[in-house]
Amino acid sequence: MALSQEVRRPGLFNGRGRWDAIVVGCGVMGASVTYNLARKGLRTLNIERFGVNHELGSSHGQTRIIRLAYYEDARYIPLLRRAFESWREVESRSGKKLLLMTGGLMVGRSDGALVKGVLKSAAAHEVPHEVLSAREAQDRFRAFSLTDEFEAVYERNAGVLFAEESVRAFVGLGSEAGAEFRFSEEVRGWKAGADSVEVETSLGRQTAPRLILCAGAWNGRLLGGAIPLQCERQVPFWFSSGGRDVFTAPKMPIFIMEEKADSYYYGIPELGHGVKVARTHGGEMGDPDKVRREVTDEDAAPVRDFVAKRLAGLDNVPIASTTCLYTNTPDLNFVVGPLPGEPKVTVVSACSGHGFKFASVMGEIAANLSAGEKAGYDIAFLSPDRFRTK
Ligand SMILES: Cc1cc2nc3c(=O)[nH]c(=O)nc-3n(C[C@H](O)[C@H](O)[C@H](O)COP(=O)(O)OP(=O)(O)OC[C@H]3O[C@@H](n4cnc5c(N)ncnc54)[C@H](O)[C@@H]3O)c2cc1C
Repeated sequence: MALSQEVRRPGLFNGRGRWDAIVVGCGVMGASVTYNLARKGLRTLNIERFGVNHELGSSHGQTRIIRLAYYEDARYIPLLRRAFESWREVESRSGKKLLLMTGGLMVGRSDGALVKGVLKSAAAHEVPHEVLSAREAQDRFRAFSLTDEFEAVYERNAGVLFAEESVRAFVGLGSEAGAEFRFSEEVRGWKAGADSVEVETSLGRQTAPRLILCAGAWNGRLLGGAIPLQCERQVPFWFSSGGRDVFTAPKMPIFIMEEKADSYYYGIPELGHGVKVARTHGGEMGDPDKVRREVTDEDAAPVRDFVAKRLAGLDNVPIASTTCLYTNTPDLNFVVGPLPGEPKVTVVSACSGHGFKFASVMGEIAANLSAGEKAGYDIAFLSPDRFRTK
């Protein structure tokens, strides 16, 4: 296909064996990294323990939120601008619909971290937005039931990514560009030598000059504790909209609500599977292989209360749920860059529950770094080095 011929630069790692790069994990990060490495002409092997879009990691399900006025930290905004562009490029190359702009409503108290953070980021990077009182927001977006203590910020540069379609798009384009994806094969360990990294898998050994770890919540195990990571269980729910258009985009935007300090809920309008609503963080921490997968009434209770209060027109009995994993760092920022003391190994992960939207640009950055090029963006605040203790 023309794409791979156009962008391949054979010879970058000539004479070093079968693979130029090995990527561990085929969630959205690993799939994007693999695709971007293959586009650069690197012979890339992706090794994934389970199947594509399996339900035990962090990237499965229909949708994820994407937005620009990033309340968490304005330093993400240049990355997000490129992420939007590169999602569009992946859409057009793959012919798949990956992005749906719905607009986004951020709701909280005017002195709360969410509203203050959105306004600070929007001002710093001139992101178009509108500030609305609770009443104005509710009159415009009739899905929501807000009381007067709330304020809202509406941004039109927000919407939804189709999650599993996105992973499939990266795998499809990566394969066309020459990458090999191996599923149902587990990486058991790795060892860096002078010029290469040897990877031991459940089916044998592979060697390459570069290893990129995109193992999500399992990165901690592959890093032997070199970076402090915690796996957190999350449970999103879906509620029936009963076919009412106030719960359907564009009448209902994606939203994040700071219900009270440190208590955040978010949601995605009806797109054929019900309205998605979840509480963010507050889940059990533990070993990713021992996560409790059954969903209980206790999991549902706070979300049902939230729906009854803030999305009062919805029936608050969920019609579906799933479990999903956050991989948290102590500062809740990602970890992207070479492993301290081992430049042949790049880590891309620990997205702390907000990484999906960045996968398109993180794939480009990781591929740049692995090919010995500059990242192309300021990612110093995401460096694994920040956790170095000595
Ligand atoms: C409920 C929920 C809602 C979210 N909502 C949003 C949102 O709205 N917007 C947003 O931007 N982000 C969101 N996120 C975060 C986002 O989904 C994640 O940051 C992202 O999916 C992480 O992708 P990943 O590739 O790093 O991890 P994963 O998808 O978990 O992929 C890691 C892969 O590595 C594989 N693996 C692990 N160990 C090995 C091994 N030893 N050998 C081989 N393979 C291995 C695993 O099987 C897995 O497939 C949400 C996350 C959750 C859980």
